[in-house]
Order: sequence, then C-alpha cells, then structure tokens
Amino acid sequence: MKRFHRVFVGLGSNLEDPINQLDTAIDSLQRTPEVSVLAVSGYYRSSPVGPQDQDDFINAVVELSTSLEPEALLTALQAIEHQQGRVRERHWGPRTLDLDILYYEGITRDTDTLSIPHPRLTERAFVLIPLYDLAPELVIAGQPMEHWLEKTDDQTVEHLSL
Ligand code: ADP
Ligand code: MG
Repeated sequence: MKRFHRVFVGLGSNLEDPINQLDTAIDSLQRTPEVSVLAVSGYYRSSPVGPQDQDDFINAVVELSTSLEPEALLTALQAIEHQQGRVRERHWGPRTLDLDILYYEGITRDTDTLSIPHPRLTERAFVLIPLYDLAPELVIAGQPMEHWLEKTDDQTVEHLSL
C-alpha cells in the first residue's frame, strides 16, 4: 500500500497576473497524479528580495498529501513551473511561478538539487506567514514557528482580501 506524506509547498509569482498564476498552479497540483491539495493559505503581497527593479511578489502556501517521494515531487513542481512559462533568468529575478518544497513530513535532506526544509524558509516572512496559516504547530530546525516569525517581524507582508 502506498504511504501518503504531508508536505507544504510555497508558491510565488511576480509576472503576468500573479494571482492567476497561483490559482492555475494550484489547479495543476490538484490534477497531478498521486497529489491531493488539502488546504490553501491566504495570498500575500511583499516587496521583492534582491533586485528591487521588479514588481511585488504574490505568495501562498499549500498543504499537500502525496505518495511521491521528494525528488519525484520536485520534478512534478518543475513541470508545472515550466508549463506556466517560467524562464530562468537572473537569480532572485522576476518569475511567472516559483514552487518550492518548504517542508516534507519526516524528511531532512541537503543535496545539490534538494534541501528540505527549504533553507531560506526561516528567513522569509512571506513564506512563514502563509505557512503559519496552515500549520502553526510545525517545528522547523528545532524551533516553533513563532520563533521564526518573531525574527522576521520587521518584514512587511500584506494579506490580500480576494
Ligand atoms: P529559488 O526558489 O531559490 O529562487 P529556483 O526556483 O530557481 O530558486 O530553484 C533553484 C534550484 O533549487 C532548483 O533547481 C532545485 O533543484 C533547488 N532546490 C533545492 N531545494 C529545493 C526545495 N526544497 N524546493 C525547490 N527547489 C529546491
Ligand atoms: Mg524555487
């Protein structure tokens, strides 16, 4: 029998109607074999990290149940990024869609292609806040969510009312 794992995936976009990009990506995730979308956070707006000459980002987090192992899930996420026209240009530059594995139940991993939990998760309010919407009880790198939220409380993140 297949085992299903609880996973949180972060979504981000700052090009070509970002809200619609996130909606489309969530539909695609729901249609991915062996993946179910259990919950979707609020949508949040924040200023870009890195180069400032680009539009604000819209971010959200989804909770998945999946029997895909981490590498297979990453491949599925990259296929969705690709479908939505993501072109890899400069680091931290504009993108139509970014899908990151934030947390995968029971797995810590640090290889060239995959780090779990996501290494920048604990530094970014725009990921922590939507993740906290869905899973306030998570412990990341040995610390409760509140610890990381406090450390990043100088970052401005705006909740969108859709
Ligand atoms: P970023 O999300 O940091 O802006 P990219 O989306 O361009 O950067 O991803 C670069 C690489 O990060 C991917 O090719 C992937 O192999 C790697 N990566 C490492 N850990 C993760 C993770 N947890 N989720 C998604 N990608 C990851
Ligand atoms: Mg990414």
